[in-house]
Amino acid sequence: MSDQPDKSFETLAIHAGQTADPVTGAVVPPIYQVSTYKQDGVGGLRGGYEYSRSGNPTRTALEENLAALEGGRRGLAFASGLAAEDCLLRTLLTPGDHVVIPNDAYGGTFRLFSKVAERWGVRWSVADTSDPAAVRAALCDRTKAVWVETPSNPLLGITDIAASAEVARAAGARLVVDNTFASPYLQQPLALGADVVVHSTTKYMGGHSDVVGGALVVSDPELGEELAFHQNSMGAVAGPMDAWLVLRGIKTLAVRMDRHCANAERVVEALTAHPEVAEVCYPGLPSHPGHETAAKQMRAFGGMVSFRVRGGEEAAVGVCDRTQLFTLGESLGGVESLIEHPGRMTHASAAGSPLEVPADLVRLSVGIESADDLLADLTAALG
Ligand SMILES: *Cc1c(COP(=O)(O)O)cnc(C)c1O
Repeated sequence: MSDQPDKSFETLAIHAGQTADPVTGAVVPPIYQVSTYKQDGVGGLRGGYEYSRSGNPTRTALEENLAALEGGRRGLAFASGLAAEDCLLRTLLTPGDHVVIPNDAYGGTFRLFSKVAERWGVRWSVADTSDPAAVRAALCDRTKAVWVETPSNPLLGITDIAASAEVARAAGARLVVDNTFASPYLQQPLALGADVVVHSTTKYMGGHSDVVGGALVVSDPELGEELAFHQNSMGAVAGPMDAWLVLRGIKTLAVRMDRHCANAERVVEALTAHPEVAEVCYPGLPSHPGHETAAKQMRAFGGMVSFRVRGGEEAAVGVCDRTQLFTLGESLGGVESLIEHPGRMTHASAAGSPLEVPADLVRLSVGIESADDLLADLTAALG
């Protein structure tokens, strides 16, 4: 729970969950690289910690920070975004239960449902979550969760979180929002009616391409307890070093996101005017079908940009191969700019499924380098 609930986001990012170390006065929480804790007599725990899978002070600092940033009551930190998702689906769903997933979900999320959870009897259907009527049509009597991702990956589709919460609530299902692309600085799903926020903290939260992590944040303390029970029972927790790296990244989240958004806008402007670009996908464009919804629920439109290249798949792959400053690689949300071809890279596992992405699509994670340098690099690669 937030220890400074009245403070603004930028302040919480730096201070929530973190007080000076009581022993040394260290301003930053130490990396408690430890598995077990001395007990003062049987059952006498000094600081409430007994074993680091169940709890570790560095992880606690991160978990309290995450809860504060999302405006939730409970945060939980995991070894990866998919570990967080796995814990969530095994907490919310039992065999025979059904979940609605978006038609442009993160490839790994789709794989988790279609190749792993399905074997355990979880049923799923795919819907265009940007259309509440399509979500309603996909519901069935055993639907326990509606899963949305907004902005989505890689097409930057926008789903109305408040409208989705209403549809889910009316069906007795929980609304799960993957907030990885926006980060809590740009969008706070719990305040809009979501039940669970999912993060890959590998991305904007960590922000420096140096750690893999995941998180869940909820408002309902009972659900928080159930998730914590499963987190401890299943064991895919964030290690102390990784928790510390994410905490460190979060301190600059607000300033980084401001620059990511500003640079993305410059990139979008240049791409939109470029003759080799057939279409630019960015929720900040007034022509984007989700623009109004995004303007309503986001502070700004984010640092992710996708575009379709004239000339098809080979032309798109060529652009990815030719950039020098934009590094060819998967992942996103770091200070350095990345470029990738979703069809052959991040979304290759979705080929032949309802989540298959256009072959001429290129995805950018616009970093915080000089916008002028980024534009020069892209323009040269487009030819
Ligand atoms: C990367 C990502 C995930 C998975 O997170 P990992 O940390 O790679 O396990 C989930 N959702 C979205 C939107 C992502 O970008």
